[in-house]
Amino acid sequence: MYAIRIHAPGGTEALVYEDVPVPTPGVGEVRVKVVAAGVNFIDVYQRMGLYPVPLPFTLGQEAAGIVDTVGPEVTGFDPGDPVAYAFQPGAYAEYAIVPAAKLVRVPPTIDLSIAAAVMLQGLTAHYLTHSTFPLAAQHTALVHAAAGGVGLLLIQMAKLSGARVLGTVSTEEKAALARDAGADEVILYTQEDFTAAVRRLTDGRGVDVVYDSVGQTTFSGSLDCLCPRGYMVLFGQSSGPVAPFNLQELNSRGSLFITRPSLGHYVATRDELEGRVSDIVRWIEAGTLTVHIDRTLPLHAVAEAHQALESRATVGKVLLMP
Ligand code: NDP
Repeated sequence: MYAIRIHAPGGTEALVYEDVPVPTPGVGEVRVKVVAAGVNFIDVYQRMGLYPVPLPFTLGQEAAGIVDTVGPEVTGFDPGDPVAYAFQPGAYAEYAIVPAAKLVRVPPTIDLSIAAAVMLQGLTAHYLTHSTFPLAAQHTALVHAAAGGVGLLLIQMAKLSGARVLGTVSTEEKAALARDAGADEVILYTQEDFTAAVRRLTDGRGVDVVYDSVGQTTFSGSLDCLCPRGYMVLFGQSSGPVAPFNLQELNSRGSLFITRPSLGHYVATRDELEGRVSDIVRWIEAGTLTVHIDRTLPLHAVAEAHQALESRATVGKVLLMP
């Protein structure tokens, strides 16, 4: 089968499309014939070596597809079942091995491309809005990179919770998409000081929570957007890692809270995973959650996918089709 592997960290030239043996599922594992694999920023970090991985490494953390065969002691899944999963490496391939505990069944109402597009980023948007800082009608949230894969889903879920949502984006085209997703106000942080804009749009109060996936270029300004006792949720670093930080600043800037969450800790049990997935499925079926697919590329065009994501040229989700 063909897969995309890295043998050493690097730029997009490190992505190797190669013929590798079809893997065999072990105890509790399922082999999935991948129909669509999601591209996520974590794949870029792993390719670059920012998040070290054992080499050679098959990239890709999420996919949807069809169960091909099941290993010993697997119950609840059979060959032919449509399934999806997130947070398990090896998705940039024709076949992937996935622990059954991480698989969810895709209902016939949901296309496998949509399922692949919503697993990792949808679960992330869900835990950020429902668990890390559970949003409610009295809250105002700031969402950076609001037209990104996570961003568009995060806005919609925040609006479903009744919160007021401010978003930041780099271009007018992205601003229109963020508004369509439900953002109440959109700030072009490439053209205007987003901290001043947030203060203006909140009558000087600041926001209750900032969902910051941009990191290096936004971190300090994000802290300045918060109201006293506000929550800084730093969940990514698309512009680069945040420099070491003096905790005393949380005191002087208003008794702030800060967290650096990871999806793995928010789908730690089967119940938690199924609970989040069932909300997402219900919203998609009801038409209250729209999944925006930016582009769909063949597996061998992975370099184009990474380059587009890294150069801020994408809105919503990028998929690879093996
Ligand atoms: P996005 O689709 O959001 O793409 C990244 C966006 O970040 C760009 O489109 C761009 O939007 C913005 N950005 C700002 N500065 C830069 C820069 N210098 N280089 C590149 N992009 C920049 O990606 P994803 O939805 O896949 O992921 C968003 C973030 O969320 C990532 O940092 C990812 O690691 C993180 N994440 C964290 C998870 C967790 O559990 N902690 C889980 C899932 C994702 P614009 O042009 O509008 O500025």
